Amino acid sequence: MDLQLYIGGEWTDGTGDETYEIRSPVTGEHIYTLPKPTPADIDRAVAAARAATEELRHWSAFERADLCHRIARLWAERVEEVARILTLEQGKPYHAEAIDDIAESGDYFSIAAEDAKRLTGEVIPTTERHRRMVTLRRPVGVWAAITPWNFPVMIPMEYVGPGLATGNAFVIKPPEFTAWALLEMAKVFDEAGVPPGAINIVPGGGDVGAYLVAHDGVDAVGFTGSSETGRKIVASMGLKRSIMEMSGNGPLVVAADADVEAAATAAVYGAYYNAGQVCCATERVIVVDDVHDEFVAATLTAAERDVRLGDPFDPATTMGPLNNEATAEKMDRHLADAVARGAEILTGGGRADGFPTSLYYRFTVVDGVPEDSALSQEESFGPVVPILVARDDQEAVEIANRSHLGLQAAVFTRDLSKAWWYADHIRSGTVIVNDSTDFWETFQPFGGAAGTDTGWGRQRIEEFTDLQTVVFNLDDG
Ligand code: NAD
Repeated sequence: MDLQLYIGGEWTDGTGDETYEIRSPVTGEHIYTLPKPTPADIDRAVAAARAATEELRHWSAFERADLCHRIARLWAERVEEVARILTLEQGKPYHAEAIDDIAESGDYFSIAAEDAKRLTGEVIPTTERHRRMVTLRRPVGVWAAITPWNFPVMIPMEYVGPGLATGNAFVIKPPEFTAWALLEMAKVFDEAGVPPGAINIVPGGGDVGAYLVAHDGVDAVGFTGSSETGRKIVASMGLKRSIMEMSGNGPLVVAADADVEAAATAAVYGAYYNAGQVCCATERVIVVDDVHDEFVAATLTAAERDVRLGDPFDPATTMGPLNNEATAEKMDRHLADAVARGAEILTGGGRADGFPTSLYYRFTVVDGVPEDSALSQEESFGPVVPILVARDDQEAVEIANRSHLGLQAAVFTRDLSKAWWYADHIRSGTVIVNDSTDFWETFQPFGGAAGTDTGWGRQRIEEFTDLQTVVFNLDDG
């Protein structure tokens, strides 16, 4: 399959000679060729976006809402077809995950359409009787959306849904190796009547992203990816507005009074969903000592019952391959380091044999994980439940907070007061009580806690607007 860039409402091979050749993590086969965007292609996309936002800012909120509803309707017709492509390029199970993933990505447009209709400014009281002061919500303008490979369609739409509904335009730069489903869905934008240039898609590597975020024609950066890359972007983007959604190291705390079986089921789910390649995956399980043995037994039972590693197109499969070799190598490294520091692998522990690629990873449970291991300190992004032990609630919170990341934490307890105590003490953008760290709703305000390397901002509709204050002096004499 030969793919093209989507710039200014047109499909183009771009102006360069270089191409990306992409293989599927599922089959190992070559699945597409994609032109590598050049700086000139990016310049064109940014200019097209500028023209589009200049037009869209004059549309009424209801006109933009109609456009978003049209996108959502056309989107729903293509879910299954695009979900197949997503599975092939990303690796997530088609039946268990990819269909919902693509369907929910369309919800961003219907939700934003209604939010935009209700977004209001203010009338601010003044000191003088002949003055009036009002605030209006203007679009921010041209956004660079730099997005990752774990949710290749959903994450860009988290920006585009609310952003388009408020009159912004986008140059999206997804990774070159998970670009097909997104480019396929872009056909819906044409059909729905999105103004040319309001949404541009220029897949590529870090060099393409680096050129885009530093571009003078870009007003704001929406970045979802690793904290490491985020640090480089912040250093190079200059004085631009930003939403930064970065790495997580989700703790799941099991208190002594928890429903241990429910906690184990949630921990396993949080580690195998999308093969653990989720920013809010369960990355550390902190179990209060009293229930440690019970929790370990329940976790092994849940893993045996719920995890089926296999061909992601098979309806029985609940976990597909990892997406890429760098992620698999990181898992290898984190497990070796944990074992060297005294941890014990209870099940799994490496790559599975007998599959078309070496990216199929066995579901892994590790007990006695020391806090100073990479498995505990860093985001592993693979199918692993690392178990750490705490003496009591106080120590559980201290372990949870001894991390430079703070995205989404979970706590299992039957005691409402204790649940609040945890929410008051865990430094995390979201705290989930009695459900997986992977709990997710498209409309949930989601993002990092201040003071951590996870980032800032939430993809709420207000963040795509700029408050303009207008003052009227009514005294004409
Ligand atoms: P990554 O940081 O390697 O890449 C993310 C994007 O940045 C890619 O499009 C990449 O090409 C681009 N990029 C790389 N270098 C760049 C540079 N110098 N300038 C501009 N762009 C550059 O991350 P990844 O491996 O694709 O994604 C996994 C990470 O994303 C994990 O850390 C995960 O936790 C995080 N993530 C966070 C959220 C969230 O909402 N907080 C959601 C999903 C993923």
